[in-house]
Amino acid sequence: MKLLIVVLLSLSISGIAQKIPQGNPKRMEDRILALGRFGANPEGGVSRVAYSEADIAGRAYVMGLMKNAGLEVHLDAAGNIIGRRAGKDNKLAPIAFGSHIDSVPGGGNYDGDVGSLGAIECIELLNEGKITTQHPLEVIIFQNEEGGLIGSEALCGILPATSLDLVSNSGKTIRQGIAELGGNVEKLSEAARKKGYYHAFLELHIEQGGILDKKGINIGVVEGIVGINQWSVTITGKGNHAGTTPMDQRQDAMVAAAKLTLAINRAATSVPGRQVATVGRIQAFPGAPNVIPGKVIMTLEIRDLSHEKILSVFAEIQSQGIIIEKETGTTIAYTLTNENLPAPTDPRIQSLVAAAAKELGLTTQLMPSGAGHDAQDMATIAPTGMIFVPSKNGVSHAPDEYTSPQDMANGASVLLQTILKLDKQTLN
Ligand SMILES: [Zn+2]
Repeated sequence: MKLLIVVLLSLSISGIAQKIPQGNPKRMEDRILALGRFGANPEGGVSRVAYSEADIAGRAYVMGLMKNAGLEVHLDAAGNIIGRRAGKDNKLAPIAFGSHIDSVPGGGNYDGDVGSLGAIECIELLNEGKITTQHPLEVIIFQNEEGGLIGSEALCGILPATSLDLVSNSGKTIRQGIAELGGNVEKLSEAARKKGYYHAFLELHIEQGGILDKKGINIGVVEGIVGINQWSVTITGKGNHAGTTPMDQRQDAMVAAAKLTLAINRAATSVPGRQVATVGRIQAFPGAPNVIPGKVIMTLEIRDLSHEKILSVFAEIQSQGIIIEKETGTTIAYTLTNENLPAPTDPRIQSLVAAAAKELGLTTQLMPSGAGHDAQDMATIAPTGMIFVPSKNGVSHAPDEYTSPQDMANGASVLLQTILKLDKQTLN
């Protein structure tokens, strides 16, 4: 008898394990294509900037999917779409997951969409498996990610009031956009969730780089979203006649800028690590073929997962700058114009994501996110994790962005298994 019970028990345990469904590649592909019709551009991608007609229509489509999957859907005051699924114990903090469906102008069909539809896919799979989690679940579709993480900033209570009057890519201000989506700017503070409100937050997203595709790895376990520091660099020399001033009597700001650009590249490559440094824009003044530039204004951007690393690369650039000043008879001034601190993901969630992928027979790699995501805001209020799936040839923010149906389904499977693991875990 005892043996029979043990046999029955183990049969039923393995039965439950087999019942946990995996992402459906066909359903994900069908939905990606259906969502891609809203704002479709002639090149095969989408131009669905936040607050545009296409964005509003795409949101209606996604809300329909959420309601059909049985979620209780509402908009918060910022216009974020939130769909709730009750848990066994609704006093527990919800597990939240989601992404965005707005795009850059001339964008592709996968950035944000894979994570949004992947979150809905998890709900479909839970329904199909008749699984009720302990914790309530919240699918969140953030508004206006591409225009500066507006929806997630509002949800985390860190949207600066001054942002409301910024003009977005749709031509509408953020304030007008929120009203257009059905939010309420007057009650924006009601959208803000406090630290501890969520048990955890997860975001599935395409990698937007080429590492996973190149190496043939299924899943990226994101270590964190890199910090970004940007400076405006002004180099002052002496403008003079380009024909009559001998080479040894020049204080050429452009020559100093060229040397500094190379020094910036060296500073980022001469130490171990994945830090990146870029000069993205350079302007010479007065900007005439026959005048030695007396002034150059250029940008400097450094990104890394460690803020200290960013500062140490910058310190090396500054010390090289002092040598360049002497060599060229110029002065170099740096003004910090933007600073986004790195947002590390929760190491416990990284382990759960890696374990979930392994159980599904998928290969993984630990990697930073070089691009910004709503998850970086969510990391300020909740233990946060991110899951990457491969982007073909590393293309993103362009119409030929592509992730295969199987890769999308893999991402949804890993997302669901991670949610189920988090459901059994206390984190705080
Ligand atoms: Zn995105």
